Amino acid sequence: MRSIQTDQQPMLPVPHATTPFWRTDLDELDGHRSTADLPAECDILIIGSGYAGIAASYHLLVGEESKAFAGKKVVLLEARQACSGATGRNGGHVRPSVYSRLPRYIEEYGLEAAEQFAQFELDHVNAFADLVKREGIECDFEFTRSFDIYTDPEQAAVAKANYLKLKEAGVAKSTIDDLEWTDADRAEEVSGVRGCVGCFTFTAASVWPYKLFLSLLKLTIQKGLNLQTHTPVTSICPTASPSGLWTAGTPRGPISAKQIIFATNGYTAFLLPEYAGKIVPCRGICSRITCPPSSHPPKIDKTYGLRLPKGSYDYLIPRKDGSIVVGGARSAFFSDPSEWYNTVDDSTLIGSAAHYFDNYMQEHFIGWEDSGAKVEQIWTGIMGYNADGLPSVGEVPGREGCFVRRGLRGMGCRGLWGMLGGEAFEETDVPGMFKTTRERLESERDDLRGK
Ligand SMILES: Cc1cc2nc3c(=O)[nH]c(=O)nc-3n(C[C@H](O)[C@H](O)[C@H](O)COP(=O)(O)OP(=O)(O)OC[C@H]3O[C@@H](n4cnc5c(N)ncnc54)[C@H](O)[C@@H]3O)c2cc1C
Repeated sequence: MRSIQTDQQPMLPVPHATTPFWRTDLDELDGHRSTADLPAECDILIIGSGYAGIAASYHLLVGEESKAFAGKKVVLLEARQACSGATGRNGGHVRPSVYSRLPRYIEEYGLEAAEQFAQFELDHVNAFADLVKREGIECDFEFTRSFDIYTDPEQAAVAKANYLKLKEAGVAKSTIDDLEWTDADRAEEVSGVRGCVGCFTFTAASVWPYKLFLSLLKLTIQKGLNLQTHTPVTSICPTASPSGLWTAGTPRGPISAKQIIFATNGYTAFLLPEYAGKIVPCRGICSRITCPPSSHPPKIDKTYGLRLPKGSYDYLIPRKDGSIVVGGARSAFFSDPSEWYNTVDDSTLIGSAAHYFDNYMQEHFIGWEDSGAKVEQIWTGIMGYNADGLPSVGEVPGREGCFVRRGLRGMGCRGLWGMLGGEAFEETDVPGMFKTTRERLESERDDLRGK
């Protein structure tokens, strides 16, 4: 791998982003401003309108916990259009990433902490389902089983051994019983993937994320959220005025707030420099593949994570309209950090991965050889990678009233509302290992660069 440059200054979202499939049918709220002028002050300011920011506004104004925040003035500022960051350009997979991480977490943090993490992550699938049902949201939400595909016999053997170890370690039945392993003799037949030498399946879901989060935004606006799109926050400083603890600067003037939620993902270090090198903006690539109407390849009815040769770990979801959303492509670009590491440019494709998906279905899926499947859309998006591989949640050390929420999926995070209401992190249900702490900020650990 070439050496990684870390000296680039953190930046704001760029204009003219590539267009993801999910944003080809835009909602009327996409460029919404609730008021012509930016309010001068509010109680709670949310920065960023993705999973994290919109879920925050929903919980503060609509969800059960909103009673505790009755009468609070909540403002959400978004640099570009609503849901135009990673949430509007991801793979649409709601997939707990538990089993492959658990062995490492058990070793590092102990069984109890690892199980807390697993349960928290697994709860998200049901939390999404409950929310979609409760609010009657049309967003193509579908429960499914998801495959985790191994094509390397050594990796497959390690995965199976880890699975058996998890059972031995006494990991909760609710976690382990959902996991099914298939050995090499039946792996291709069961998964439909050429070269598969072992696979897991487990419960997951898929969704049209933009539709889900724009629907939530609509509900929160009806309950009083002031949404201001096209309003980048360019600075944060303590305020002298009695109206708030913090002032956020924007090109449209300042706004003061008692509490701020930074739901800014890969862009967090632009406003909170202490996160530079800790939450790093990294570029990902995703595509949508379609077949000609005359083509009828074998039906795909589960989602996939595909561990392919040369280090790709791709994700794939089939859609009801017959198209396939697939992203990843690491083997095409990961060895060249200038293509993906410490960049906020989602206005261009990752050059070396631009054709990675061209023959994807033909190459990897049995029976798809003559399908005529081709890439219809391809786009990039910016993720915030945590240098230590863990989400960062909670009050920013040394900045009373400022909260980060990076790396958690939208729902199920009751913890943050408790913290906004004055509870200590430890009193909430957020796994302890996710807490943003001074120690983590000062740590030299960098999993991305192997330190
Ligand atoms: C290509 C790709 C595929 C992915 N696939 C999946 C998947 O299938 N499943 C999955 O679970 N996850 C997936 N992810 C990751 C997932 O999308 C993210 O973890 C999730 O969207 C993060 O949500 P968020 O709210 O933290 O960030 P974002 O959705 O990125 O939202 C942050 C928002 O903050 C705004 N912002 C930033 N700075 C400022 C500022 N200074 N002022 C105002 N606004 C600001 C941005 O414009 C942006 O809208 C994928 C990501 C990418 C890029």
